[in-house]
Amino acid sequence: MKNILCAQCGGKLHKQKTSLDRMTEGHLYLFADVSVQVCDQCGEIWIPGTLAERMDQAIQGKIKPKKLIPVPVY
Ligand SMILES: [Zn+2]
Repeated sequence: MKNILCAQCGGKLHKQKTSLDRMTEGHLYLFADVSVQVCDQCGEIWIPGTLAERMDQAIQGKIKPKKLIPVPVY
């Protein structure tokens, strides 16, 4: 795989495990322990296409969640 550069600043990207959350129509979706590309320079997080697709499918209810957790709202 060739080196991808940050589309924001041209910095180098490195792979990192993180947790992402998406709020859609009052529902919070948490994606734990996913691999993203993070820019060394500006810290921008780039979500790989395959992961973005998976997140879309999850939000559409096509993928069963591993677990459900209550989320406190303030
Ligand atoms: Zn950057």
